[in-house]
Amino acid sequence: MADQVETAFGRLLTLDEAWGQNLGHRQMTPNLALHCPVCGFDYNHPGDPEGLWGWEAVKHDGRVEVVMGRQWAGRGNGVAVPFACENGHRWVLCVGFHKGQCFVFATRDTDAELAAAEAINDDDPLPPF
Ligand SMILES: [Zn+2]
Repeated sequence: MADQVETAFGRLLTLDEAWGQNLGHRQMTPNLALHCPVCGFDYNHPGDPEGLWGWEAVKHDGRVEVVMGRQWAGRGNGVAVPFACENGHRWVLCVGFHKGQCFVFATRDTDAELAAAEAINDDDPLPPF
């Protein structure tokens, strides 16, 4: 298992040191390498993007009526991309929209994955959702 990776972005992103060149057409930022937030390994396989539903999409008449898919605390919706780490962890990269701002965070894929993450990172547990 890879050593824990700590960066300015938490456990999720590091500056890329492998490519040494821009990767995208009209690229505006440095390359960032994505890491598993559970173990820090940088070999992760993306799944199909899914909806990330904000509270306006799941509430009606002041109460939650529909429980669907992946949810977050913001007002607007967003995008969730599930990942499978080559060390066996499943996690989700989320971009949520709230009143003009977008927030990026990682979540567990299941409750079992959160327990595994907290066991590995017991000094800095992932926040519950
Ligand atoms: Zn992992």
